[in-house]
This record gives sequence, structure tokens and C-alpha cells, in this order.
Amino acid sequence: MDFAESAEQQLLRKSVAQLAARYGHSYWLEKARTGQKTDELWTEVGRLGYLGVNIPEEYGGGGRGILELAIVCEELAAAGCPLLLLVVSPAICASVIGRSGTEEQRRRWLPGIASGDLKMAFAITEPDAGSNSHQIATTLTADRGDVVLNGRKTYISGVDEVPAVLVVARSRDARTGTLRPALVVVPTDAPGFECTLIPVEITGPEKQFALFFDDVRLPADAVIGETAEAALAALFAGLNPERITGAAFAVGIGRYALAKGTAYARERAVWGVPIGTHQGLSHPLANAAIQVELARLMTQKAGWLYDAGLDTEAGEAANMAKYAAAEASLLALDQAIQVHGGNGFATEYGLATLWGAARLARTAPISREMILNFVASHTLGLPRSY
Ligand SMILES: Cc1cc2nc3c(=O)[nH]c(=O)nc-3n(C[C@H](O)[C@H](O)[C@H](O)COP(=O)(O)OP(=O)(O)OC[C@H]3O[C@@H](n4cnc5c(N)ncnc54)[C@H](O)[C@@H]3O)c2cc1C
Repeated sequence: MDFAESAEQQLLRKSVAQLAARYGHSYWLEKARTGQKTDELWTEVGRLGYLGVNIPEEYGGGGRGILELAIVCEELAAAGCPLLLLVVSPAICASVIGRSGTEEQRRRWLPGIASGDLKMAFAITEPDAGSNSHQIATTLTADRGDVVLNGRKTYISGVDEVPAVLVVARSRDARTGTLRPALVVVPTDAPGFECTLIPVEITGPEKQFALFFDDVRLPADAVIGETAEAALAALFAGLNPERITGAAFAVGIGRYALAKGTAYARERAVWGVPIGTHQGLSHPLANAAIQVELARLMTQKAGWLYDAGLDTEAGEAANMAKYAAAEASLLALDQAIQVHGGNGFATEYGLATLWGAARLARTAPISREMILNFVASHTLGLPRSY
């Protein structure tokens, strides 16, 4: 067992950290507050090969794995620039298309995702189904050589910045008549596709949308994974990377908060000594540092398992990592705000501005409760409550 990152991984971490430091939290915040996108940062991350680090080399990527993409996510967030669409475009969409797409689909989408020239959104959540993905009601029906999509989705990130969305629907098996998952790439300019903005109180450059599909007609080759088994495998290929990079995103925010909190605790003195001398402040910071490091370790384990092709084990580890990282990140951010006293709320100190992004990890892409349900039934073998 080797817990050390390779020289190559360490170099990647250092290079992304240096790049992200040139932008910093003030850049990210300015973009979020003025309704702009982090295009300059996204383009540079893509140009340097970091966005496509997990995409096979023959499709323009770096040929590495989710472990490396998690490093990219973590280091950007640790510099105060968490990029939500990294969790969606290269992590979910590229993994799904890379593992389960046809050769034509891979050639069509992966090079653009790798270079950053195009982003792809991912839509599974529905207003009525919620966490119960068995209740997904968006349907994909075969019709005269095409497929037709009907239904709706909610809280879909980044639809205003993408040419296409990877949509999870259900189709009826022609032979057995049973409903099975179906994944389809839907261009955002397809007739019958509509989206409306959902205003949310999260500071961040990415926006959220409700999607409506009204008889959206697509060529049959827009469908990813031809058989029922392939579609299910395709879906799972994307959900684990989503959780692993989501965890890395949260770990990065935790590290950012800890760095700020400890720097302030060293400098600020109100009783003649730095406030970090008081254990009332140093112990919660130390506790948060332990929780963030534990979450980071679990994230690395999950990434390693996924890259080793151990999907079942990776699923459990990815869920645990996402849970632990969300909690650790919120703990660290809250303590960093506490250490800053009144300044914790000031825009200038760049902490409260990340609360929405940190808090989101407890709810999405899978909620804290659904992970606990999974661990209770899957890991502990307890009966399911639903
Ligand atoms: C900012 C943002 C961005 C998002 N981006 C995307 C995206 O890009 N693509 C996408 O597909 N989705 C996205 N989502 C959706 C997100 O994944 C869901 O909001 C999340 O999975 C929870 O589903 P829900 O909102 O339907 O909550 P519900 O399923 O309605 O759950 C409500 C509450 O009940 C709890 N609960 C539900 N069932 C159980 C149970 N059996 N036991 C215990 N507790 C339970 C939940 O944990 C939650 O606390 C995004 C959401 C947000 C807020």
C-alpha cells in the first residue's frame, strides 16, 4: 500500500495550485457577483490539459484517471475558485461517454470537453422524483428511426453555457415491455427543448435551470449505451466520478477555509497574544484539519478504486468520501468564519462568500440522508426504510 502521490501527481497538484493562485477567490467572486462566467480560468485549465486529464489520450485528453481530475478540482477550490462544472462536464459526462459511448460519440464530444472548448451539462433530477430516481418520468421513445424525449428536469447546472445536456430518461424495452434507464445527449437548441432559470441563494458563477422536453426528436445515435445493461453501466460510470470530484471540490473549500482561519488566528491579537493561542479557537481548527484530511484520504481511496476498475468498492467509497468531505468542509468554513469574528462576514475576507458552495455539497449531487441510507443498507446490511 502506497499513500504517496506519484511525482507526476504532485507536479499536477503544484501546477494547478500555481495557476489557480493567479486567479484567486476575488476573481471567482467578481465573476459570480457580476453574472459572468469564469471563462478565462476554464480556458486556461483546458489549454494546459487539466480539464481533460481523465480523458483517454486518443480523444485529446491526458490519459490519466479520476484521481487526477479530483486533484484538479481540489486545488482550484483550495484557491477559492471552486468550478462546479468540473464535476459535471469532464467528470460525469466524459466518463459516461468515454466508457459507454460509441466510437463516433467519443470522437464527437470528448476532444471538446478535454480542451474546454465545450462543456456538457448533466440532468437526472426531476421535480416529482427527487432523490427517488426509480420514479424518473422523462421518457425516451423510439419513433421511425429516431428517438423522442418528453419530460422535465430541475436544478440542472450550467445549461446556459453548454451546447448539449446528457439526460437520464427511461425507455420501454421493446421485448420485455419494462422501463429501463436511457441516457441521451440533447442539444440545447433542439426544437422542443426549453429551459428557465431557477434563482438560488448560492454565490457562484454557475446558474441552475429547470428543463422541459416537449417531443424533442433526436437521431437514434444520440442515445448512449445500446442495451439495458449498457445504459445502467453508463449511468454508474458517471455517478461515481461525480461523487469523487464533488468530494474533492468540498475538500478544497475546507483547505481554503483552514488556510484563511489559521493565518488570521496567527496574526490577530486582542489580549496581547495571537488569538490562535486560545484553545477555544485552535482546537476546533485542529479538529477541522483532521476531518478535512480524513475526507481527503477517502476521496483519494475512492478515486483509486474507480481508476482500478473496482466499481462496486468505488461506489461505497465515493459515497463515504462525498459525505465526509461535505461535513468537513462546512465545519472548516464555519470555524474559519468564527475565528474571524465580525470579519468572517466581510466580503473582503472571502469566507462567507463560499458558504453556499460548501453547503451545497451536503445536498447535491446526492444528499447526506441518501448516503446514510446507502451505507445503512449496503455497508451495514440493515433493512431499507423505503
Ligand atoms: C445548486 C444545485 C445544483 C444542482 N445541479 C444538478 C445538476 O447539474 N444535475 C442534476 O441532475 N441535479 C442537480 N441538482 C439536484 C440535486 O442533485 C438534488 O437537489 C438532490 O439530489 C436532492 O434531491 P431533491 O432536491 O429532489 O430533494 P428530495 O428528494 O425532495 O429530498 C428532500 C429531503 O428529503 C430527504 N430524503 C429524501 N428521501 C429520503 C429517504 N428515503 N430517507 C431520508 N431522507 C430522505 C433528502 O435527503 C432531502 O434532505 C442540483 C441541486 C442544486 C441545489
